[in-house]
Amino acid sequence: MSQVANRAVMPSYARTDVAFERGDGVYLHAADGRKFLDFGAGVAVVSLGHNHPRLVAALTEQAGRLWHTSNLYRIPGQERLADRLTANSFADTVFFCNSGAEAVEASIKVARKYHSTNGNPERYRLISFDGSFHGRTLATISAGSSDAHRAGFGPAVDGFDHVAFGNMNEVRNAIGAETAGIIVEAVQGEGGVRPTDPAFLRDLRAACDEYGLLLIFDEVQTGVGRTGELWGYQLSGVEPDVMALAKGLGGGFPIGACLATADAAAGITPGTHGSTFGGNPLAAASANAVLDVLLEDGFLAGTAATGNFLGAELGRLAERHPGAIAEARGVGMMWGLKCLVPNAEIVAAAFERGLLTVPAADNVVRLLPPLVTEESHCREAVAILDECFKNAGR
Ligand SMILES: *Cc1c(COP(=O)(O)O)cnc(C)c1O
Repeated sequence: MSQVANRAVMPSYARTDVAFERGDGVYLHAADGRKFLDFGAGVAVVSLGHNHPRLVAALTEQAGRLWHTSNLYRIPGQERLADRLTANSFADTVFFCNSGAEAVEASIKVARKYHSTNGNPERYRLISFDGSFHGRTLATISAGSSDAHRAGFGPAVDGFDHVAFGNMNEVRNAIGAETAGIIVEAVQGEGGVRPTDPAFLRDLRAACDEYGLLLIFDEVQTGVGRTGELWGYQLSGVEPDVMALAKGLGGGFPIGACLATADAAAGITPGTHGSTFGGNPLAAASANAVLDVLLEDGFLAGTAATGNFLGAELGRLAERHPGAIAEARGVGMMWGLKCLVPNAEIVAAAFERGLLTVPAADNVVRLLPPLVTEESHCREAVAILDECFKNAGR
């Protein structure tokens, strides 16, 4: 798996030397004729797989009529999308943007503005967790846990207090007169597919209610069906006040969203926040088409069932390779293999055998297949992984 660089592109990524020219459901076809089973889905983005006929139809229909008008004017597709997102979630209102980091930024701004509007501008700090990832803007690298992501980009944005993931004592000790809220992932994605304990989430909710804090769920990766539920928060039954979405929402078209209760978003009035592209007609048409499929009767139940099947297969894989796999963990279409051999070696070996996976922190190989993946695809992927782990460390 060699790596190459075109120096005209700023070298911020270590890219694998392959270029895809066509996608078809759960498969990608490379320019050199190789075929890959895509269990990375563009890092949890291509929620309905590649070239889904209904997404293609919706986007091309919109492309032939109108691309962009700006948020100076009403955008019917955006309003319809907001109506559907709020009707199907805890939220009352939605701000649209173009990426996960922007959705988290909007969530941070909503939390600060909420307290400022309520006469407490000194309450601007958010508690976040070790192992968390919230994006690559200045504020979101400060919110996230990675020192490497902050290195050389100082000074850090002030206002984030990191505590141990899952440790309620540390959370309570970190809550002070300046605390505005808590930001948490339903399942830590980049951190290595670490599901957040439902009991811990219930405790976070209780602490937020006790101290008047906002609970923010970063569901950029877990949202829009990834966990087998429409939203990751449904796994625990704990409702947030604010939620960030992006990745799977547009099925591959860039769109992000910050969802909030009316109370949490009360400070967001005309002129307080904005985005030129946010929720434009093309993005809204894509996301509405994704919802058309996801909200159909039985779709998510099917995703959850296939996810359970994949999880069981991965559990057996881990049992077959006790020297190479510490555990299989995850939920729905979001699984991690915690490796005892270098995860990069497995990702590379899987690539050579025609399976795309994504590395994550904590030495994890991450599997994020499209939500339309079937049991036969899971069997194919696990058979490839079996070969990779058999040969691992040799
Ligand atoms: C990917 C991700 C982000 C950042 O999304 P971008 O679209 O890359 O800005 C933020 N939070 C979580 C949980 C993510 O997985």
